[in-house]
Amino acid sequence: MLLYNTLLGKKEEFLPLREDHVRLYVCGITAYDYCHIGHARSAVVFDVLVRYLRFRGWKVTFVRNFTDIDDKIIKRAAAEGLSAAEVAEKYIAAFYEDMDALGILRADQEPRATDHIPGMIRLTEKLIEKGYAYATPRGDVYFRVRAFAEYGRLSGRNIEELRSGARVEPGEHKEDPLDFALWKAAKPNEPFWPSPWGSGRPGWHLECSVMSEDLLGLPLDIHGGGQDLAFPHHENEMAQSMAATDGEFARFWVHNGFVQVNAEKMSKSLGNFVTIRDILANFLPEVLRFFLLTKHYRSPLDFSFDSMEEAEKALQRIYQTTALLREHGARTKWSDAVLLHELEAELKDLERDWTKAMEDDLNTAGALGHVFSMVRLANRMLEDKGWRKSVASKTLGVKILENLQCWGQALGLFLDDPQAWLTKLKDIRIRRRGLDKGQVEGLLAAREDARRVKDFQRADTLRQVLTDMGVEVRDTPAGQVWDVA
Ligand SMILES: [Zn+2]
Repeated sequence: MLLYNTLLGKKEEFLPLREDHVRLYVCGITAYDYCHIGHARSAVVFDVLVRYLRFRGWKVTFVRNFTDIDDKIIKRAAAEGLSAAEVAEKYIAAFYEDMDALGILRADQEPRATDHIPGMIRLTEKLIEKGYAYATPRGDVYFRVRAFAEYGRLSGRNIEELRSGARVEPGEHKEDPLDFALWKAAKPNEPFWPSPWGSGRPGWHLECSVMSEDLLGLPLDIHGGGQDLAFPHHENEMAQSMAATDGEFARFWVHNGFVQVNAEKMSKSLGNFVTIRDILANFLPEVLRFFLLTKHYRSPLDFSFDSMEEAEKALQRIYQTTALLREHGARTKWSDAVLLHELEAELKDLERDWTKAMEDDLNTAGALGHVFSMVRLANRMLEDKGWRKSVASKTLGVKILENLQCWGQALGLFLDDPQAWLTKLKDIRIRRRGLDKGQVEGLLAAREDARRVKDFQRADTLRQVLTDMGVEVRDTPAGQVWDVA
């Protein structure tokens, strides 16, 4: 499998260091607010990576941390009148709600920074001993960036340029403006832990170096996170760990791209800040997951509610086809099954292409394209009356359903019961349009009654009322079917 390695700036064949066992670390959230669309993208990308690595037969140990002590958490605690620990608890619980909805598998280990303070103190001591760090009179400890020759390698930064843009804040006692905090002396009314340098708390970058080494051992096979973390967070993690161990930190660095909202950078000041909750109020979680996978994970992704509606229609087509295939399978009788060569060959090509896309740096966009080709093939078969009745088409249908299940496991998609999913979709569309479900159902029932007594004029009037509301009704031999636009 090929994976793009930020460290080398190119795709490389990925193989785990230890046979068949992939050790993966991904930076988790700082728990001080609800997760936004950027968090959703990173979570979905690495969830698919884990699922796919397992799908291909490797054992994966996946560690994703929670930063539960940080300046932002302390600030939020003051604003909400809670303790820092209560803030972290609240937003970790919210994280699980959002991520469970999106079908994100739990990591094998989900350490919290505050459970690893002794290890962080030990690593800091080691860096001081080796001349890579120094304590200041105030009780802060800084990493000495100029002592680490490879600084800037991961993010491709020029150290002199960085230095010219950096400032030392008053009272910091840094030797060099680029030096970063390993340990921060406690300010009044802040949570603190005792240390050889006085009461304080760990710096953010230090946490990941310690937790990843403690739980997975170095070097990691893959270290992942959003592109925004590459500098300074990952650069600093790498500097700390390599300086302390004189060895490699992570063999592959995998970064997912940015998310924009309506073609602008997302920010609270622009008023285009979108949380996962905002989206799930109006869309099924799987639609968001699907939307996020329609772009290659390294490409920038532009979020808009319009593109979510497009994604919703696309996913609906897949579930509609799945529902038809299941129904078709139930109706046709079994006998000696022979696939027609032509369609069988087409399907074989699609299976090969799907794998090829996933093996090429986890190209989910390409893989989803092949899913749609397969869905089109299914519909070609279902729309042809001669075919629909044949045993061969049933066998082909079963094979397509199996592929959707199998690929769906790797992508975390298409796993719902199709009828149940389509019903949920109608419900959420009714809600999004601000319609009253009871009223819609009442009108539909009244129209069915009118048709039963052959009052077609009334049936047409009721259809028009429904159409004006955005509810489309079609009459089929099996009765009326409806959908919300
Ligand atoms: Zn990290």
